[in-house]
Amino acid sequence: MENKKDTSGRETEKAQYKDVWVFVEQTDGVAQPVSFELLTKARELAGKIGCEVAAVSIGKSVSHLADEVFKYGADKFYVIENDVFESYRTEPFRDALSDLVRKYKPEIFLIGATTQGRDLSGTVATELKTGLTADTTKQEIDPETGLLLMTRPTFGGSLMATIICPDHRPQMSTVRPGVFKAEPLDKPKQGKIIREETKITEEQVVKKILQKVVSSDNVVNLGFYDVIVAGGKGMGNKDNFEMLIELADLLGGTWAGSRKAVELGFVPQTRQVGQTGQTVHPKLYIACGISGAIQHLVGMQTSDTIISINIDENAPIFDVSTYCIVEDALKFVPRLIAELRTKTKTVKK
Ligand SMILES: Cc1cc2nc3c(=O)[nH]c(=O)nc-3n(C[C@H](O)[C@H](O)[C@H](O)COP(=O)(O)OP(=O)(O)OC[C@H]3O[C@@H](n4cnc5c(N)ncnc54)[C@H](O)[C@@H]3O)c2cc1C
Repeated sequence: MENKKDTSGRETEKAQYKDVWVFVEQTDGVAQPVSFELLTKARELAGKIGCEVAAVSIGKSVSHLADEVFKYGADKFYVIENDVFESYRTEPFRDALSDLVRKYKPEIFLIGATTQGRDLSGTVATELKTGLTADTTKQEIDPETGLLLMTRPTFGGSLMATIICPDHRPQMSTVRPGVFKAEPLDKPKQGKIIREETKITEEQVVKKILQKVVSSDNVVNLGFYDVIVAGGKGMGNKDNFEMLIELADLLGGTWAGSRKAVELGFVPQTRQVGQTGQTVHPKLYIACGISGAIQHLVGMQTSDTIISINIDENAPIFDVSTYCIVEDALKFVPRLIAELRTKTKTVKK
């Protein structure tokens, strides 16, 4: 009996929640690209459940991001501007965002699985006592229940788990950058900016930022490239990667590797594709000597076209490939390079 009462109470409560929200993360007023990927996805989800898309941003000065968020499909843009939000700190961001959620009640709330997004989402979900699925790679609406189906790799990527949050609101999840494509609308939305004040003052914030140090690591943003030529253990040694670098150059792209290739010292970690590396979505992904372990696939399987070169015709990479080439990559890649070189010369003539 108790249970029944609880559930009906929740149904009334749940009915008050609507809209799909996207947190627009920014640093010094520049939005993280993942925000636009999520707004594009939010348009699709909102279309399915019949509601609007709202973007939310918190910072010292963020309202100038309105043009961009409306271009990517937000109908509304909630903005909280105050000096106290100049740099990210967990507690003031948590309090401001939780208050905003309590006031406007979104049905779904998507946040990029960046370092900041992972920190913020966890603390906001705890504050709101709702469910959060971290690091998802797929988002769909269940046509029967209208619930958000949040899919993420788990147990080291050996299992894909689809998680739902049936009773609590909002349904929250973080999404890996690079999984969805950012697609602007032909005609931007005539969106509405909704400004909110904060009661939080600098004196109330215990954590102070004394210094910001920019890392000197040469991080390569693989998501930026339309063409990625990646190599795995099958490339044999570091020197053989020179041919992949040359192939990538000829195609106007960049090069990358599997985790095995990183562990063997063929490729720096900053170029690793996969679950513990970067997620990419290029127009063309060429996989050379990569077996296609699930932890690698989750980082590249949404690429538009995948060409795989592997000596093993049963390699799992072929299951996600557009073109499967059963060959020795060390012989095939030089032939491809020679062919492309002649093509380039012909074009130049
Ligand atoms: C928690 C966890 C996280 C992980 N995260 C990642 C991740 O982010 N990214 C990632 O890639 N992996 C990740 N892994 C590792 C992953 O499980 C695999 O071990 C790895 O992807 C395998 O790399 P590989 O395909 O290069 O090597 P292998 O699996 O050894 O495959 C080599 C392939 O090369 C082929 N081959 C050999 N010689 C040639 C040749 N001359 N020409 C053509 N083909 C040839 C072979 O047939 C084989 O298919 C993770 C694992 C765990 C447990």
